[in-house]
Amino acid sequence: MAECKAYGCTNNKRRNRGKHFFCVPRPIDSTRLELAKRWLHNIGTSYTIQTFPFGRNSVVCEDHFKPTCYKRNLQAELLGTKPLCRLKADAVPTEFGHKKSVPPTPITTKMESFVPCANINIS
Ligand SMILES: [Zn+2]
Repeated sequence: MAECKAYGCTNNKRRNRGKHFFCVPRPIDSTRLELAKRWLHNIGTSYTIQTFPFGRNSVVCEDHFKPTCYKRNLQAELLGTKPLCRLKADAVPTEFGHKKSVPPTPITTKMESFVPCANINIS
Protein backbone atom coordinates (compact mmCIF):
# COMPACT_ATOMS: atom_id res chain seq x y z
CA MET A 1 0.00 0.00 0.00
CA ALA A 2 1.40 3.35 -1.03
CA GLU A 3 0.83 5.44 2.04
CA CYS A 4 2.20 8.89 2.79
CA LYS A 5 5.38 8.45 4.82
CA ALA A 6 5.10 11.81 6.59
CA TYR A 7 4.77 11.44 10.34
CA GLY A 8 1.15 11.67 11.45
CA CYS A 9 -0.27 11.63 7.91
CA THR A 10 -2.64 8.82 6.96
CA ASN A 11 -3.26 9.68 3.30
CA ASN A 12 -2.82 6.80 0.90
CA LYS A 13 -3.25 6.28 -2.81
CA ARG A 14 -6.33 4.11 -2.54
CA ARG A 15 -8.31 6.32 -0.17
CA ASN A 16 -7.16 9.68 -1.53
CA ARG A 17 -7.40 9.18 -5.26
CA GLY A 18 -7.56 12.88 -6.04
CA LYS A 19 -4.26 13.56 -4.33
CA HIS A 20 -0.83 13.47 -5.84
CA PHE A 21 1.86 11.39 -4.19
CA PHE A 22 5.57 11.86 -4.78
CA CYS A 23 8.31 9.28 -4.39
CA VAL A 24 11.07 10.18 -1.97
CA PRO A 25 14.09 10.99 -4.18
CA ARG A 26 16.58 8.16 -4.43
CA PRO A 27 20.11 9.12 -3.33
CA ILE A 28 21.68 8.28 -6.68
CA ASP A 29 24.23 11.12 -6.55
CA SER A 30 25.52 13.64 -4.03
CA THR A 31 22.87 16.27 -4.91
CA ARG A 32 20.05 13.79 -4.53
CA LEU A 33 21.60 12.37 -1.39
CA GLU A 34 21.34 15.79 0.29
CA LEU A 35 17.80 16.17 -1.01
CA ALA A 36 16.78 12.71 0.22
CA LYS A 37 18.26 13.49 3.66
CA ARG A 38 16.22 16.70 3.86
CA TRP A 39 13.05 14.84 2.87
CA LEU A 40 13.61 12.16 5.50
CA HIS A 41 14.45 14.74 8.16
CA ASN A 42 11.38 16.84 7.36
CA ILE A 43 8.82 14.05 7.14
CA GLY A 44 9.77 13.01 10.66
CA THR A 45 10.41 9.37 9.86
CA SER A 46 12.64 7.23 12.02
CA TYR A 47 14.28 5.82 8.91
CA THR A 48 17.77 6.86 7.92
CA ILE A 49 19.14 7.15 4.42
CA GLN A 50 20.54 3.61 4.84
CA THR A 51 17.31 2.01 6.06
CA PHE A 52 14.61 3.88 4.13
CA PRO A 53 12.79 1.60 1.62
CA PHE A 54 13.08 3.80 -1.48
CA GLY A 55 10.56 2.80 -4.13
CA ARG A 56 7.11 3.26 -5.59
CA ASN A 57 5.36 2.78 -2.26
CA SER A 58 7.58 5.20 -0.33
CA VAL A 59 5.72 8.38 -1.10
CA VAL A 60 4.86 11.76 0.40
CA CYS A 61 1.48 13.32 -0.41
CA GLU A 62 0.87 16.76 -1.86
CA ASP A 63 -0.29 18.17 1.49
CA HIS A 64 3.33 18.63 2.58
CA PHE A 65 4.48 20.85 -0.26
CA LYS A 66 4.07 24.57 -0.68
CA PRO A 67 2.53 25.75 -3.97
CA THR A 68 5.96 27.17 -4.89
CA CYS A 69 7.39 23.63 -4.90
CA TYR A 70 5.48 22.76 -8.06
CA LYS A 71 6.42 23.30 -11.66
CA ARG A 72 3.90 25.38 -13.54
CA ASN A 73 1.88 23.41 -15.97
CA LEU A 74 0.64 25.94 -18.50
CA GLN A 75 -1.42 23.41 -20.38
CA ALA A 76 -3.34 22.51 -17.23
CA GLU A 77 -3.71 26.19 -16.32
CA LEU A 78 -5.14 26.99 -19.73
CA LEU A 79 -7.48 24.03 -19.64
CA GLY A 80 -8.50 24.78 -16.05
CA THR A 81 -7.46 21.35 -14.80
CA LYS A 82 -5.51 20.66 -11.62
CA PRO A 83 -1.98 21.93 -12.30
CA LEU A 84 -0.17 20.61 -9.21
CA CYS A 85 1.41 17.46 -10.53
CA ARG A 86 5.17 17.91 -10.93
CA LEU A 87 7.63 18.96 -8.27
CA LYS A 88 10.63 21.14 -8.94
CA ALA A 89 13.94 19.30 -8.77
CA ASP A 90 14.86 20.86 -5.42
CA ALA A 91 11.42 20.71 -3.80
CA VAL A 92 11.35 19.55 -0.18
CA PRO A 93 8.24 18.81 1.91
CA THR A 94 7.87 21.49 4.61
CA GLU A 95 4.15 21.55 5.46
CA PHE A 96 3.09 19.28 8.31
CA GLY A 97 0.14 19.19 10.63
CA HIS A 98 2.16 17.55 13.40
CA LYS A 99 4.53 20.50 13.76
CA LYS A 100 4.14 24.12 12.84
CA SER A 101 7.20 24.52 10.67
CA VAL A 102 10.51 22.87 10.01
CA PRO A 103 13.49 25.00 10.98
CA PRO A 104 16.24 24.86 8.34
CA THR A 105 18.85 23.96 10.94
CA PRO A 106 18.42 23.24 14.64
CA ILE A 107 19.28 26.25 16.78
CA THR A 108 21.59 25.36 19.62
CA THR A 109 22.93 27.68 22.25
CA LYS A 110 26.32 26.45 23.26
CA MET A 111 27.64 27.73 26.55
CA GLU A 112 30.99 26.09 25.93
CA SER A 113 31.68 28.67 23.27
CA PHE A 114 31.77 31.27 26.03
CA VAL A 115 35.38 31.71 27.03
CA PRO A 116 36.07 33.50 30.31
CA CYS A 117 38.68 36.25 30.24
CA ALA A 118 40.65 34.97 33.24
CA ASN A 119 43.89 34.60 31.29
CA ILE A 120 44.10 38.18 30.13
CA ASN A 121 47.15 39.76 31.73
CA ILE A 122 46.65 43.47 32.32
CA SER A 123 49.93 45.24 33.06
ZN1 LIG B 1 0.82 13.17 3.67
